[in-house]
Amino acid sequence: MNPLRTLILAAAGNDAVRRAVATAPVSRDVVRRFVAGETVASAVDATADLVEHGLRVTLDYLGEDTSDRTVAERTVRAYLALLDQLHETGLACDAEVSVKLSAVGQALDERLALDNASRICAAAEQCGTTVTLDMEDHTTTDSTLRVLAEVRRAWPATGAVLQAYLRRTLEDCHALEGARVRLCKGAYAEPASVAFSDPHEVDLNYVRCANALLAGSGYPMFATHDPRLVEIVAERARWHDRAPDSFEFQMLYGIRPAEQARLAAEGHVVRVYVPFGEQWYGYLMRRLAERPAAVAFFLRSLVSRS
Ligand SMILES: Cc1cc2nc3c(=O)[nH]c(=O)nc-3n(C[C@H](O)[C@H](O)[C@H](O)COP(=O)(O)OP(=O)(O)OC[C@H]3O[C@@H](n4cnc5c(N)ncnc54)[C@H](O)[C@@H]3O)c2cc1C
Repeated sequence: MNPLRTLILAAAGNDAVRRAVATAPVSRDVVRRFVAGETVASAVDATADLVEHGLRVTLDYLGEDTSDRTVAERTVRAYLALLDQLHETGLACDAEVSVKLSAVGQALDERLALDNASRICAAAEQCGTTVTLDMEDHTTTDSTLRVLAEVRRAWPATGAVLQAYLRRTLEDCHALEGARVRLCKGAYAEPASVAFSDPHEVDLNYVRCANALLAGSGYPMFATHDPRLVEIVAERARWHDRAPDSFEFQMLYGIRPAEQARLAAEGHVVRVYVPFGEQWYGYLMRRLAERPAAVAFFLRSLVSRS
């Protein structure tokens, strides 16, 4: 892994760094570039704007790794409130939600995470939309896939996420035949025993997995900003005779918006992952770890305005 990425991910776990960044006056301005706001209302506003521009949305209430039942419950309630609002504003047909099981109690008890995820899936169904279960670090992969399998018995449209950097992922693509599957590169610092560390190997695995998903009968969701991968996926989709509405591209809020618009104008389904909520720190750090240029931008803002 790139040393700067390792350093930033390590800093992300440091309490002193966390306090310094979270309390810097400028942080909120910088965060706005990647996060839709702290409230349900701001998330719904951002969603309406994206939908108006021909994009679809998946919303993530920020927060992860809780070992506190009260916090897990608060997260579930935030999702229920959000789903209500999406329904009331008529946005539910274009906007779904993404849920991290660690935010709804996975570390405490897998059963609690399953129950909480099921509550969100039930509400999503009532509102006319779906849920995707985000994938976190490799120590949670088996547990997340177990919960997903359970949830999909009642709500088969629930989406999975697979990470191309994991050596196991091609096998998981086959195991999830017929499902909605988001394929991403993977955002966590993982050991070489389970993950490819060479970016080229990750890309090759991404293409192998994309082919497997496109050859299957499921609904693949290609989450990447990588121009080469976007081009390869579009070409492979044509080769597999995929109708435009039988797969989609996904990108993060605030990243390559012009490319999002271009793909949508070409007739592709494009979904933007929109994070919101007060717990933006870990999310921001992962985005910064991916882009040295964004780190420079962030540090410059801290120096010039704090
Ligand atoms: C919708 C969505 C959902 C995700 N869900 C998960 C999840 O559940 N679990 C998980 O582990 N990870 C998730 N990720 C994160 C993902 O795993 C990667 O860490 C992240 O997307 C960066 O990888 P990349 O494919 O965009 O390519 P990178 O290797 O980061 O970048 C490749 C190329 O893309 C272009 N690019 C990238 N970023 C930018 C930018 N800011 N501006 C301009 N060009 C850029 C550049 O040309 C760059 O060289 C998700 C990502 C997306 C888009």
